[in-house]
Amino acid sequence: MSQYANTLSKILEVTSFTNKDSTYFEFLKVPEKTIHVSFPVRLDNDETIYLNGFRVIHNRKRGPSKGGIRFTECVNMNEVKLLALLMTLKCSLLELPYGGGKGGVIINTINLSENELEQVTRGFVRGIFDDIGPHKDIPAPDMYTNSKIMDIATNEYQKISKSKTYATFTGKSIKNKGLEGRTESTGFGGFVCARNFFKDINGLKVNLQGLGNAGGTIGKYLVDAGAKIICASDSKGSIYNKNGLDYQEILKLKSSKRSVALYNQEHDSLEKDEFLEKDCDLLILAANENVINSSNYKKVKGKVILELANGPINFDSIDFQEMKNKIVIPDILANSGGVVGSYLEWDNNLKNKKSSKTETLEHLDRKISKVFARVLKTSEDLNINLRKASYVEALKNLT
Ligand code: NAD
Repeated sequence: MSQYANTLSKILEVTSFTNKDSTYFEFLKVPEKTIHVSFPVRLDNDETIYLNGFRVIHNRKRGPSKGGIRFTECVNMNEVKLLALLMTLKCSLLELPYGGGKGGVIINTINLSENELEQVTRGFVRGIFDDIGPHKDIPAPDMYTNSKIMDIATNEYQKISKSKTYATFTGKSIKNKGLEGRTESTGFGGFVCARNFFKDINGLKVNLQGLGNAGGTIGKYLVDAGAKIICASDSKGSIYNKNGLDYQEILKLKSSKRSVALYNQEHDSLEKDEFLEKDCDLLILAANENVINSSNYKKVKGKVILELANGPINFDSIDFQEMKNKIVIPDILANSGGVVGSYLEWDNNLKNKKSSKTETLEHLDRKISKVFARVLKTSEDLNINLRKASYVEALKNLT
């Protein structure tokens, strides 16, 4: 079974807790539209290469589709379809007037010049132009894309459409009608979930995988609230100190694009996957998909796992029962701050308004705390885990 089919079957398992049966949710089975584009990019050495990109519009029952664009070597249509399905659920859970979408370009951006990265962005926007727009499909940043890329994408869209709209892409820079607080919104939303769950963060021992936009930010809010980061991992290494790592030092390394592997205070360096074996109060997965899977799930020590990344636990091969002793705060809730922030940016752009950072963070806190409380109650009332309870609440908003 594909991961899409497997995830969908898990979602549809909970339809008995809604007032509709699974046949009603037939519209979730196949994405509304899948777009595969191939486009040329002229490199700085005048060579032309052809790249493949994808955009999936999963479902627009609640409004235009919304979801990020990732630039990575490993992206493929199946992954984008699955992530678009999760976006449909996430937007519905958060009661946003959006459906789900997602996109990606197969490219490793590490060795691209700024000009080449700009050509990739413009080429992809030209490829998907007919299907995007403020009331059709609204992309945002995701892995290895950022506000600079959203600014270029906005400019390309404005040029082709001969319009002045800024509402086709969210996650733009502040000087280009982006939202104050949008950069922090995913990590902050995850922090709000953790705070609602634990109530008291002070002294919490945290194991954090992924120190980019989402992971770096949640770490900062947790440390400010008194938590200790005892283990930190990025794509090049993992470091551990049971008494807590110096998070400022880690942020300095990351802001200068260096790895935690270069951390020079007292610590142990861990091998791949070894970080999963470290005792902690909270394990945060903020890097990529499929981190916990059938080969390593028995080693996982953290009792509470917060999925800040999309799909970091692969349930393809892990029976839900096998993870019964863990509490998982699921991705569609834990990382929903990003899309809530994006919604505010889009709404500001359409109404020509400008929310302050405080307004953005207060809005996120209110909205995510409310949904978190509802999911927790459903989980307790129905005696189901938080993932299933999130699916139940999301499906109810799709009826
Ligand atoms: P990013 O590119 O800013 O950072 C990714 C981080 O993951 C980096 O620290 C990188 O070193 C680390 N990483 C990558 N591969 C790894 C590996 N194999 N092992 C350990 N670490 C690894 O990305 P981001 O925007 O922070 O996104 C991270 C996750 O959060 C993704 O799954 C993304 O879909 C999800 N997410 C992000 C947002 C957002 O607004 N940024 C919103 C919702 C969900």
